[in-house]
Amino acid sequence: MTESEHVDTPKSNLLGMTRSQLETLFLDMGEKKFRAAQVLKWIHARGVNDIDAMTDLSKVLREKLKGRATLDVPEVTYDATAKDGTRKWLMLMPGGSAVETVFIPEANRGTLCVSSQIGCALDCSFCSTGKQGFNRDLSAAEIISQLWVAAKALEGTSERRERRITNVVFMGMGEPLLNFDHVMAAIDLMMEDNAYGISKRRVTLSTSGVVPAIRAMGDHTDCSLALSLHAPNDALRDEIVPLNKKYGIAETLQACNDYLSNLADKRQLTIEYTLINEVNDELTHARELAELLRNTPCKINLIPFNPFPNSGYERPSNNRSHRFRDELLAAGYNVTIRKTRGEDIDAACGQLVGRVEDRTRRSERYIKAVQIGSTAAEMASARGRIGRA
Ligand code: SAH
Ligand code: SF4
Repeated sequence: MTESEHVDTPKSNLLGMTRSQLETLFLDMGEKKFRAAQVLKWIHARGVNDIDAMTDLSKVLREKLKGRATLDVPEVTYDATAKDGTRKWLMLMPGGSAVETVFIPEANRGTLCVSSQIGCALDCSFCSTGKQGFNRDLSAAEIISQLWVAAKALEGTSERRERRITNVVFMGMGEPLLNFDHVMAAIDLMMEDNAYGISKRRVTLSTSGVVPAIRAMGDHTDCSLALSLHAPNDALRDEIVPLNKKYGIAETLQACNDYLSNLADKRQLTIEYTLINEVNDELTHARELAELLRNTPCKINLIPFNPFPNSGYERPSNNRSHRFRDELLAAGYNVTIRKTRGEDIDAACGQLVGRVEDRTRRSERYIKAVQIGSTAAEMASARGRIGRA
């Protein structure tokens, strides 16, 4: 090949590379494997976004690395904290799509809720992400960047920072098991000691039940698992979770049980059940659910439906939710009703971003407002509009 015919291989973004991918990169460059751990620490433990800041790499090595890779982080276009401490970020990804991430502080833990796709193809009838259709998969870098941004904002940039993010849940936008490779790479980084070091028990992948991918998961990870069940029988689940027509409840529960029983430690499946008024919240449903889960070690998380425009569904009254919970408690299950958090910044985990495109336009207006030096009042009003969308 002549000089002019030479085609450059695209540079990888260091942000989304796992330890083993970085090791391969360094070996390929004729360097030692331990460089991978150094780079991971700079990026993820210290929140650095500049290869030149990695001062335990020689200048020559840094230049060499810059020839092979970039270090691109998303642009944060919105950052708000609700009265109850829930914090939400809106990040602009390359290509102009916006992704939301939410941090939920509780007395004994801090949970970050992350997205795996922009939109979702699975079209569950009660989900606003599903209603907006599928846009695209997030890359591993885009998934882990949600943790990178949140950790930097919450924990600062020193290596010995106090960890406030103790748990991560894939309960934002998208079906993580339909973006398998990128999600597995991101989970790897979440658990990697040189990166975020979060315990395998505290990283939870939530799925609506992509059975072949649940079966494949065990070869790649040992994170925790949540199943979005939402109905105690196939007839009802077919209606609200269309994927059920492909993989029915029995087959799906079996795949989850097999994944968990192959883990080295004992772990329970989390069952997510969105309570929709007069659709799946009758006492008969609770009884049927109790029967269905009899042989599944699990805890049940009830999520009162989060309304959005034109959904055609309603949130049940507290009385109905409590009645449903009490029936399961009486049957001996560990059940909680998820509290709505961050309502004043519209940060309900499990139902992030209503109208993404609309929000992107709003956030663009906000960026413009910042760039042209608008008054504080104008910016606050632009921010308010994003928050209420
Ligand atoms: N696709 C994955 C993960 C993202 S959805 C899954 O379905 O599990 C995360 C959780 O939020 C799921 O349990 C989902 O059913 C729930 N959810 C979606 N829309 C909701 C709504 N409007 N109200 C309450 N929970 C909702
Ligand atoms: Fe997709 Fe999960 Fe929403 Fe269903 S509930 S449409 S799988 S994001």
